[in-house]
Amino acid sequence: MKTKSLILTNISIISAGLLLLTSCATVSDEPSADSALPSPTAEEMAAIEEEVSSKPGFAEALDCPKSPIPESQLSLVNFSAYPDDEIINCFNFAANKIAEMQTDVMMIIYPVGPILLPPGEVKNNDTYYRGAGFEPVITADQRDSMASSLESYLEPACGGEFATYQARQVSRFAELGGGQQVAGGGSGSDECAKKRWMILSIDPDRAGPSKELVTTFFHEVFHTVQASPGPTCNYSGAPDDDQFWIHEAGASFFGLEIAAELADLDSALVWGDHMSFVSNLLGNQEISSEFEDPGIAEKGAIALRLLAERGQLETSEVMDGSLFQNCGGQPEAFSPQNIQAAKDYWFDYSEVSEGVFRFSETALTQ
Ligand SMILES: [Zn+2]
Repeated sequence: MKTKSLILTNISIISAGLLLLTSCATVSDEPSADSALPSPTAEEMAAIEEEVSSKPGFAEALDCPKSPIPESQLSLVNFSAYPDDEIINCFNFAANKIAEMQTDVMMIIYPVGPILLPPGEVKNNDTYYRGAGFEPVITADQRDSMASSLESYLEPACGGEFATYQARQVSRFAELGGGQQVAGGGSGSDECAKKRWMILSIDPDRAGPSKELVTTFFHEVFHTVQASPGPTCNYSGAPDDDQFWIHEAGASFFGLEIAAELADLDSALVWGDHMSFVSNLLGNQEISSEFEDPGIAEKGAIALRLLAERGQLETSEVMDGSLFQNCGGQPEAFSPQNIQAAKDYWFDYSEVSEGVFRFSETALTQ
């Protein structure tokens, strides 16, 4: 029951270089005869090329505009070198996108040392958290403080036993040097389900500059506003549980769009970078085109982008969180037909000019 309330992401697995390379096989997806690509208009190309030629930088630090404190309070436990106010600004920046925050959030950020080689899961891990092993660096006092903060945050809504258990899990994993990015939440009562926490470890690589830190940060923040997963959380009404991939997809979509906004970039560039990255993983057969891990969040984000381009999903409904807060509710965007199209065609795209990716005509219209 406890692990079920966790939303795990595989980003660390990719970034920590743990994804094993398969043989240098060729891409299995032959372009189909009817996948002729629509050409961007001259205006679109001119705008994109101008942006490319000005060599824009992607957002590589948690550098957000100061923003008003949202109604929903953030509790921050930060032992990293990142200043509290920068983290708070970025949390607020994200929270202000959300139409109606329905959750409380505790954010726990801790440093870890270099990754232990060869890369692998944390040794002697007696917690339910999973992640790569790093050299532990936080002190006993910091661990105690982390545990007592989480405990007092959860206790009033979730009860002492649950609070103590979760606090112990988190501080113990940090003690072991566990690399982490995860969002968790309470369960049982509505009051407890409102209590969310997100954990982010910062290793020397991620300390920056790091694009991955920025997108991961916002990915996890988005999880804290999504509906608490449960057995009835189903968006398309299909027999299989679709909540996992839809939540992962939404979180990565949000992270990419925010990264573009922070860097003042046309989001097409950030999407191009992402689609190129995923396309390489697919080409190297490090991931499959199925909606499964590894890479579910990265793949799913592209699937949502496809639905948006097909006119079946409003980007604003993703960005304001509203699609993901009702634990299903069968929104039109996630109708069975739309989900099928997303699964069948999300990977049917190619590079039409440097850094610019387009879905095929089939993907956009079938
Ligand atoms: Zn995730």
